[in-house]
Amino acid sequence: MSNLKIGIIGAGAMGSGIAQVAATAGNVVKIYDANDVAMQRALENVRLGLRKIAEKGKISLIAAADIANKISITERLEGLGDCDLIIEAVIEDLEIKKNIFNELEMYVSENCILASNTSSLSITAIAGACQSPERVIGIHFFNPATIMPLVEIIPALQTPQYIVEKTVEIIEKWGKTVVIAKDTPGFIVNRIARPYYSEALRIYDEGIADFRAIDAAMTEGGFKMGPFALMDLIGQDVNYAVTESVWTNTYFDPRYKPSVTQKRLVEAKYLGRKTGRGFYDYFKQNDDNEIVIDAELKKYVFNRILTMLINEAYDAIYWNLATDIDIETAMTKGVNYPKGLLAWGKEIGLQNVLKTMNELYEKYREERYRASPILSAKTP
Ligand code: NAD
Repeated sequence: MSNLKIGIIGAGAMGSGIAQVAATAGNVVKIYDANDVAMQRALENVRLGLRKIAEKGKISLIAAADIANKISITERLEGLGDCDLIIEAVIEDLEIKKNIFNELEMYVSENCILASNTSSLSITAIAGACQSPERVIGIHFFNPATIMPLVEIIPALQTPQYIVEKTVEIIEKWGKTVVIAKDTPGFIVNRIARPYYSEALRIYDEGIADFRAIDAAMTEGGFKMGPFALMDLIGQDVNYAVTESVWTNTYFDPRYKPSVTQKRLVEAKYLGRKTGRGFYDYFKQNDDNEIVIDAELKKYVFNRILTMLINEAYDAIYWNLATDIDIETAMTKGVNYPKGLLAWGKEIGLQNVLKTMNELYEKYREERYRASPILSAKTP
């Protein structure tokens, strides 16, 4: 599968990364973007990225140039007509995506697979806008696509098994770890990871702990980044949009309710690292004053957020969103969690997870804290 013609629509952060991955695997890649400057920038970024890899000695300079030369641009969507697989990575807007898929169908062969890299939209809705919906599938890369090993493959309701298998084969040949996700809001990673942010925000909003303290509790517990530092890195706007999308698309399930605090940050354009200020102030030289946190508080914060994550992971099994193995793989490879959440739950004891959930529910009497039925079923 290294001699395929791959089309990429959208030459932004994701599109250019995916183009590099596909070309590195030996495929010929064509990029289309409505914005000419974006296409030129993508070519330049890929070239720079590959040169850096060569400078680290991972590939030769000649190989880097060869890979870059496999990527070209086309100024019209029609130019993707001879592609075997097209991955769309334009802005997150269902109508725009539907229109693109609709138009694409006029140019491509009947065997061409049409994929979307959407983080939150329904693949089934995109497929539903097509004349041949069975060729549509979700291929969800993580940012940066060149580095993150995980790819979620999301069959639409209309996608037959042979298209799923063909897609998995292609993406695995590109060196990625594939998991299969049901076409539900947030797929696997963006759904199960929600409590990492939202429970942290809730604890902060209640004044139980400062955001720095919450970050420290989580990193000391094994997570690579605390939730607030991570939200700043992802971008408060992007993180808020994903939460809001999962919340609205689950018919306002209170477990995913967004935080007003985060909305205010977005309104103030305190978007995190990219604007120099989010929860943290990146303009200040030494923002990190020594934080002294009570050990008991740290334990409480860590246990509460981890419990909510484990509950979410078990609930994903309850709703058949993915297999146990894929859920563990998704969270360790998609967001670098130190352990699979299902295994972590067993390690601390599912009866303890259930006990914490029930205590939270008793305290708040909010549906947000309902334990997944599977936890009670698995607990003697
Ligand atoms: P981006 O804003 O960096 O790039 C989007 C590109 O799409 C821009 O270059 C823009 O010119 C182009 N575009 C907009 N409308 C177009 C049209 N009608 N036709 C052709 N090109 C058009 O966005 P991104 O971060 O690369 O995200 C792209 C997609 O990938 C979105 O669906 C997003 O949800 C998804 N995604 C993003 C991330 C992430 O962390 N950024 C991760 C996984 C998936």
